[in-house]
Amino acid sequence: MAKVTGAMLMARSLKQQGVEFMYGIVGFPVQPIAAAAQEVGIKYIGMRNEQSASYAAQAAGYLTGRPGACLTVSGPGVVHGLAGLANAQQNCWPMILIGGAAPTYQNGMGSFQEENQVQIASPFCKFAHAVEHVERIPFYVEKAVRQSIYGRPGATYLDMPDDIIQGEVEEDDVQTFATVPEPPRMAAVAENVTAALDAMESAERPLVIVGKGMAWSRAENEVRAFIERTQLPFLASPMGKGVLDDNHPLSVGAARSHALKEADVIFVMGARLNWIMHYGLPPRFKKDVRVVQLDISPEAIGDNVPTEVALVGDGKTIVGQLNTELENRQWFYPADTDWKAAIAEKAAGNAAAIQPMIDDNSTPTNYYRALKDISAWATEDAVIIGEGANTMDIGRTQLPNASPRLRLDAGTYGTMGIGMGFAIAAATVHPERPIISVSGDSAIGFSGMEIETACRHKLPIKIVVLNNGGIGQGIAEFPTDAQIPPGILTIGARYDLMMEAFGGKGFLVNDPADLAGVLEEAKAFDGPTLVNVILHPQAGRKPQQFGWLTT
Ligand code: ADP
Ligand code: MG
Repeated sequence: MAKVTGAMLMARSLKQQGVEFMYGIVGFPVQPIAAAAQEVGIKYIGMRNEQSASYAAQAAGYLTGRPGACLTVSGPGVVHGLAGLANAQQNCWPMILIGGAAPTYQNGMGSFQEENQVQIASPFCKFAHAVEHVERIPFYVEKAVRQSIYGRPGATYLDMPDDIIQGEVEEDDVQTFATVPEPPRMAAVAENVTAALDAMESAERPLVIVGKGMAWSRAENEVRAFIERTQLPFLASPMGKGVLDDNHPLSVGAARSHALKEADVIFVMGARLNWIMHYGLPPRFKKDVRVVQLDISPEAIGDNVPTEVALVGDGKTIVGQLNTELENRQWFYPADTDWKAAIAEKAAGNAAAIQPMIDDNSTPTNYYRALKDISAWATEDAVIIGEGANTMDIGRTQLPNASPRLRLDAGTYGTMGIGMGFAIAAATVHPERPIISVSGDSAIGFSGMEIETACRHKLPIKIVVLNNGGIGQGIAEFPTDAQIPPGILTIGARYDLMMEAFGGKGFLVNDPADLAGVLEEAKAFDGPTLVNVILHPQAGRKPQQFGWLTT
């Protein structure tokens, strides 16, 4: 009788369940899993830190609709991978962390890298379990995959002890399970569909907020049809960007604060009224703003503000229901309202306020001027990754997306250091697309060693570092008579030379006049590049009415 190892069974089960990408670091005891993964045709990317590997796995999950896998060694490897589990759980993105573990027969003995791994992973997971019999591996993989993508997507953890990885069972004894079908698409209660449209129709100043739940649900066609049919103004969340074109005439992105503050009825679809949406509360929102809420998770209904109409179920299906019901209605939101005029006026005012910074050609440059050239250079099919405080915040306003699931950033958890993992995932999932990662100099530092991973795998990621020499802002000169302030980094640090060190191409840009040409050179280079743009240390954001964290 033929026998199969736990490692091979794990790889086979993942492949059967549609897991196509694995990111990890090998060592004791997981090396055989990585080897088996390659054998069965899973794309394996060896990374330099499990943190980045776990970020990559969830981005692959979000982009493909099936969870990405992250493979780590025991103990510290799993601990590093927890960063990504937490981030995936907060972003509602699917991934499976597979942690190696000390052999079960040494449990409790102080064995090599022994840790209570299931216990420490559990707070960040929808499902976390140790595999205790080799023949049950397909059971656990099916369960982990299903849990990660059904309902609100999220993270799962499987613990693989050394004796399970190396253990062998007869093929005939292996338990087999069906491949998890696409998540069921639940429809909303019909009367709530009517009530939702009634609520929008009754609004004086309506606003639709489109979140990344709609991108995950692949609802772009339905959402576009809904917005164009109703003519309702909409705001995309940071990663909801692209579900509708950011340059759509009904986008209120350029008048975000005003639109949120004055709307009387908001339709929150696939987004949460958390810190990113200022909890739906004053001063960022009107007191007692009326809420129509579409979410796959019933527990989310009414979070922070009461919901007037709840549409519980799948985004694509429910917006489809709304569109069908609209066929029997005449109503649409007119073009010539005070509300649309006020939004347009505010947007024009905001655009005028930043124009001098966009036009400022002085050296060293500022964020807006640098992003002007980056925006012109980024093609519409590119995946854009953003991280860093000002770099990401200003980038959200200055780098548009035209199509869904092409924007990845620090997200719900506000995690710095996701950039390289996300870029590597995007490059592996979308080899046909340009991958552009725009990082602050602090942000790139968290996982800069993954530049080596990109070079080794010949992933042609185009990195741009907006380098102001600090966290937040930098300083013009290091003090000689005082300690280095906590947020200050090396002035003019040569991140471009890190890229050169590993075989990619690096560029240093001191004068913004050179930026457009250098970006074109980077694009033409067939491999990873890093363009290091030196910014004025005090460059900042346009003055805001509210800081990001204003409650
Ligand atoms: P954003 O950061 O874009 O505002 P969030 O991550 O805060 O987005 O919210 C996304 C929401 O989308 C979550 O509440 C999640 O439950 C919901 N969601 C996930 N999948 C679906 C789906 N298929 N249909 C509808 N809503 C979904
Ligand atoms: Mg900085």
